[in-house]
Amino acid sequence: MASEPNLNERMRSLPKVDEVLRLIDLDASVRASVPDAAITDAVRASVQAMRERLLRGEDVDTSAQSTAREAAGRVRALARPSLRAVVNATGVVLHTNIGRSPLAAQAIDAVVDAARGYSTLEYSVSSMSRGSRHAHTESLICALTGAEAAMAVNNNAAATLMVLSEFAKGREAVVSRGELVEIGGSFRIPEIMATSGAEMVEVGATNKTHASDYERAITPNTAMLLKVHTSNYRIMGFSESVTAKDLVAVAREENARRAATGASDRVMVYEDLGSGSIVPPIAWRPDEEPTVGQSLGDGCDLVSFSGDKLLGGPQAGIIIGKKAYIDRLKKNPLARAMRLDKMTIAALEATLRLYLDGSAYESIPTLRMLNATPGEMAQRATSLAHAIEAHIPQGCAHVSVVEEAEKAGGGSLPTVEIPGAAVRVEYLRGRAADCERVMANGSGEPIIARTKHNCTLFDVRCLLPGDDETIACALAGYFESLE
Ligand SMILES: *Cc1c(COP(=O)(O)O)cnc(C)c1O
Repeated sequence: MASEPNLNERMRSLPKVDEVLRLIDLDASVRASVPDAAITDAVRASVQAMRERLLRGEDVDTSAQSTAREAAGRVRALARPSLRAVVNATGVVLHTNIGRSPLAAQAIDAVVDAARGYSTLEYSVSSMSRGSRHAHTESLICALTGAEAAMAVNNNAAATLMVLSEFAKGREAVVSRGELVEIGGSFRIPEIMATSGAEMVEVGATNKTHASDYERAITPNTAMLLKVHTSNYRIMGFSESVTAKDLVAVAREENARRAATGASDRVMVYEDLGSGSIVPPIAWRPDEEPTVGQSLGDGCDLVSFSGDKLLGGPQAGIIIGKKAYIDRLKKNPLARAMRLDKMTIAALEATLRLYLDGSAYESIPTLRMLNATPGEMAQRATSLAHAIEAHIPQGCAHVSVVEEAEKAGGGSLPTVEIPGAAVRVEYLRGRAADCERVMANGSGEPIIARTKHNCTLFDVRCLLPGDDETIACALAGYFESLE
């Protein structure tokens, strides 16, 4: 093989670790924030990466200088905080990739207090003995939803898994084919059901399921009728699904039959609501989504929903319903594995109190953003446009205010378009794609915006105080770098 000696030669030309270490160029602040051993490891990893690329037949610069540059990049990445704040200029309020709901100021204060010191997490001051971590949120959730009992766990996926596992493991759970949804890539109803040990019994067709489909599917081994909110999509046109109310009626009839034969177990109805909300999420469209209280009023035994979607709180899954069922869930070993930590409980309790005192629409950022009026949006877009024009050099871009229609995101309200506004930057110098790369990877807070026909759109719906300045400075930085 003719190329063999050549490859061997090139492998021998790989630089020595010591040699690269002498050349590596790092700021003092970076050098101070990582141990020497981590720098040596980064150099070794860089040499190894070069070796692998050579073996794959790639043409690589194996000089010590080039290896040192690559190793320095690794060290800088290690020294840089990974979870960082970003500016959300996408207009998508519940953007799963960038953290869904920003918390209300009251919730942030509660998190800080809980984090700083000790708390009544599992301590009852009245009895001066062990308390329950459920105590902080249960009565609030019940007061706000009309539920008999409630518990909060790590997220709604955990809630679904727990409910299925406790009540349908080794038994049948009936679900419509139109509701076997995937949410955010890693949560799929069939997979959650398989993990829980419940046997999934699919009924109906993708577009249509009737109450009689559930009736026919019920056997003596049926434990549950499951209803799943098709959060992130809707089947339009020739379609029909069975309401929770109808499922409750089907279960009631089956339970009467079972009681008549002396059987003690019953079929329960559980609804996974996805983005449940305590108040109508868009005040001017009050009938768009039933509230969780209304859903529970349909007679379901249990209902679950997320804490960080339309509720606007921290990541959590909230389960509400009949006390006998919630009591069983609290004793399930999964309850310990999926319990909330003190910071999340603090944020959730504080968020729920904002619903209790009636200030939710003003105080909870998610609700405030979803309900911003077109006039308010236009005004905010105008002030962002002015800030940008004041910062960027003359003649680089056309800056204008445009109307945009936005989505709630996070699998919520998929068919609702909310009128809004954005600032459009049309490039006279440079390119939208290059500018966005610089804004996402520059030295400042990363800015996530949208591109449309070589223009950047900065949607103002989700901007927070200070974001106008961040955007204007980042744009100015990009245009100045072209000079
Ligand atoms: C979002 C969603 C989930 C998952 O909730 P997380 O809180 O993200 O775990 C489950 N079911 C439905 C219908 C959803 O919309």
